[in-house]
Amino acid sequence: MTFSLEVFPPKTDDRYDSVAQAVSALSFLAPDYMSVTYGAGGGTSRNTVRIATDIQKLHHTTALAHLTCLSSTKKDIQNILGELRENGIHNVLALRGDQPGPDSGAPVPHDYRHAVELVRDIRAFGDFCVGAACHPEGHPDRIDPEDEIIRLREKVTAGVDFLVTQFFFDNHKFYDFVSRLRGAGIDTPIIVGVMPVTSVKSLERMIAISGTSVTPRMQTLLSRWGDDPESLMKAGILHASEQILDLVSNGFGGIHIYTMNKPAIASGIRSNIGFLLE
Ligand SMILES: Cc1cc2nc3c(=O)[nH]c(=O)nc-3n(C[C@H](O)[C@H](O)[C@H](O)COP(=O)(O)OP(=O)(O)OC[C@H]3O[C@@H](n4cnc5c(N)ncnc54)[C@H](O)[C@@H]3O)c2cc1C
Repeated sequence: MTFSLEVFPPKTDDRYDSVAQAVSALSFLAPDYMSVTYGAGGGTSRNTVRIATDIQKLHHTTALAHLTCLSSTKKDIQNILGELRENGIHNVLALRGDQPGPDSGAPVPHDYRHAVELVRDIRAFGDFCVGAACHPEGHPDRIDPEDEIIRLREKVTAGVDFLVTQFFFDNHKFYDFVSRLRGAGIDTPIIVGVMPVTSVKSLERMIAISGTSVTPRMQTLLSRWGDDPESLMKAGILHASEQILDLVSNGFGGIHIYTMNKPAIASGIRSNIGFLLE
């Protein structure tokens, strides 16, 4: 079994230290690797490489750097890949990214339309271990599940070594998705992204962009403890731990926690499921 953690970089440089502290605390949980998300433009993109480098050099933990392409030019991507290589980071999660809102002012250069094009460019650039996203409940852009599988197969064929899932709460939907993947001849290893819910507001935001459905069980937790952050955190840790136990029991041993940069949450899950790692 592997146990890994996701962190996100600060949006502004003045918040770097608080994220660095969270990364340091998370590294004490001895994850197999830590991933760092990427936000197009500004401090977020610059800090992805910086934090990934800290994870490897200061905390002696393997780093996986996310990289999105929709808001980047081909030149930007070549530059970031060069920086990653110079800093000894060999694992990249190749993503499309989301369309910037009309009011964001962010440029959309049109060099890339889908993650598959980024996968090809990373492969052409050099020797990286390349991961990509998959969406067990379907991506919000596309409603035909069969079409999703065809697109995913194209992405995998372009040179993907492993897949990481979008978060979900209904494991049965994931098992069904995996059956369809395997049925379509996609046998790439799948790492499961697990989201511990600890805030109604952040969950609502993430559901809006991911298309993840809220199960009746999760809805009950939110209704019962949505106004009580301490209890919701405990319930969120337990829910995630139970979800992991079920995944591991069903043969899925690559577990990736979306930590939201909160070491206490990852630590709670780690202590609940620690025996599974032994
Ligand atoms: C594990 C994980 C990590 C993430 N990390 C980040 C992050 O760090 N930063 C960030 O900004 N976002 C991140 N995201 C969000 C991600 O960028 C969005 O979900 C995005 O909308 C889709 O990314 P993708 O790489 O799956 O896109 P794609 O693989 O391009 O797929 C997007 C949609 O386009 C369709 N499609 C794919 N190829 C084609 C084609 N050739 N023609 C027509 N349709 C096609 C697919 O079926 C799908 O519906 C992450 C998501 C996941 C699951």
